[in-house]
Amino acid sequence: MSDVRPNILFIMSDDHASHAMSCYGSRINKTPNLDRIANEGMLFNNCFCTNSICTPSRATILTGTYNHVNNVTTLATHMDNRLQTFPKLLKEAGYRTAIFGKWHLGQGPDHCPTGFDDWAVLPGQGLYHNPEFIFKGPDGGERHTVKGYVTDIITDMILDWLESRDSEQPFCLLYHHKAPHRAWEPDEKHAHMYLNEDIPEPDTLYDDYSNRASAAAAAEMRVGVHMRPQDMKCDLNHTLPEDDMRKWAYQRYIKDYLRVIASVDDNVGRVLDYLDENGLTENTLVIYTSDQGFFLGDHGWYDKRFMYEESLRMPFIVRYPREIEAGTVNDGMILNTDFAPLFLDLAGVSVSGDMQGRSIRPLLNGQMPSDWRDAMYYRYWMHKEHHNVYAHYGIRTMRYKLIYYYSDPLGQPGTIDETYEPEWELFDLAKDPCELNNVYADPAYADVVRELTQRLHELQAEVGDERYAKDVG
Ligand code: CA
Repeated sequence: MSDVRPNILFIMSDDHASHAMSCYGSRINKTPNLDRIANEGMLFNNCFCTNSICTPSRATILTGTYNHVNNVTTLATHMDNRLQTFPKLLKEAGYRTAIFGKWHLGQGPDHCPTGFDDWAVLPGQGLYHNPEFIFKGPDGGERHTVKGYVTDIITDMILDWLESRDSEQPFCLLYHHKAPHRAWEPDEKHAHMYLNEDIPEPDTLYDDYSNRASAAAAAEMRVGVHMRPQDMKCDLNHTLPEDDMRKWAYQRYIKDYLRVIASVDDNVGRVLDYLDENGLTENTLVIYTSDQGFFLGDHGWYDKRFMYEESLRMPFIVRYPREIEAGTVNDGMILNTDFAPLFLDLAGVSVSGDMQGRSIRPLLNGQMPSDWRDAMYYRYWMHKEHHNVYAHYGIRTMRYKLIYYYSDPLGQPGTIDETYEPEWELFDLAKDPCELNNVYADPAYADVVRELTQRLHELQAEVGDERYAKDVG
C-alpha cells in the first residue's frame, strides 16, 4: 500500500513583510501566485515571530523552541547541529527530506544542514547574481558557483528534485529563498517595473520618534540616512534635509524590494504549476512564510528587530485541500514555534518533548481550541550591533503590547557592550495601531500596565526564560 501521509512544501523567503503581499491587502504591489495559496487555502492574520531576526527565527522554526532554549540568540550564534529538528524526525519517520536555498545557521563542517537527505545552500547570506552554493558532500560540502539569478536557480533545484524523487515516499521539501533580503538586487526581467510611477508612502514614513522610549530614535535603520550606496545603487546625497532624503530613498529602496519579490512570486507560481500538473496539489501541504516581518519605510525604517508590528508579524498562508477550506482567514495567534509541531502532527509523528510550540492543525480544520493562546512572548537579544537597536522583551495580546527595553548585552555574542537605563513602552493597538503613542505612564492605563506586567512575567517563566535583574515591576 502506498504511503498516504501528506507531502510538505515549506516555502520561506527572507525579510518578506506581509504588507507587500496582495492577499494581505498590500497597497504597493501584487503577488498573484502567492495569493493562489491564500485563495485556495487559509490566511493567518496574526502569525508572529519570537525574535525578529534571520538566524534566530530559523533556529526556532527548525527546533520549535525559543532562542533562550536553542541558544541561537543573535546572528553570531550558530545552531548546534545536535539539536532535535522537525526534518530529522520526519526523515526518521520515512520522509524524504531536502532543503535548497537559504540556510544561514552557520557554515563549515559543523554547521552544514543536518536531517536532510539532499541539500544545496547558500554560504551565509549568499549572492543574488551568479551565487556560490554549498552542495552536499564530505567535509562540509562542496562549493561551486551557479550561473544565473538566485531566485530562479533555487526554484530550478526544487523542480529538478521533485522530478527525480521516488514518488512512493512522502517528501518534506524546504524551498527557502534568499530574496528579498538586503541589498534588494533585482534580475533583468523585473528591473523595469515601477520605472515611471511613485509607490505610495507608508503613513509613518516621516515619524519623528516622539512619545516613545529612547530606543526608536536611537535606531540606525532610517531609510536614506543609514543606507549604503549598494542599497541605493548610487551615491547618497547627504546634504538633503532628512525628510527629503527619506522621500527620495524610500522610492529607490521599495521599488527594488518589490522587484525582487516579483521574481519570488513568479517562481512560486512555477512550483505551484508543477504540483498541479503532477497531481500533487491535493496531498501536499504548501506554506508560504518569511523568517520575520520588515519595515517598508514604516517609522522611516528598513530592517526589522523591533517588537513593533511590521517587524513582529510574519506572513503565513497555507494550502492543504484535504483539511483546509479554500479562501478562509484565521485570526488565531500563531508563532514560529508552532511550525515544527504542525509538520510532525500532519505526518503522524510524535512531537519532540522539548518543543515549545503547538500544532495549529485544529485551526486549519476550522476549530479554535478554548485554551488557545491569547498572548505571546518576544525577545530581541542582539543589543546595538548592526543597527543600534536595544535589547528588549515584551508581551503582545490581541489588544495591547508591552515592551521592556532592558538595553543590556548580557554577554551575548554579536552585541555591543554598552548598557542604558531600562525603559517601558505600552501601546493600545486598538486606538493606536501604528504604535506612535507610548501610554505606559498614562494613569488611565495603570491597571493595564499592572496586569500585562504580571502576564509578561508569567509567560516568561512558562517558556523558561529569565527576567532581567532590574525588572522588578
Ligand atoms: Ca530575515
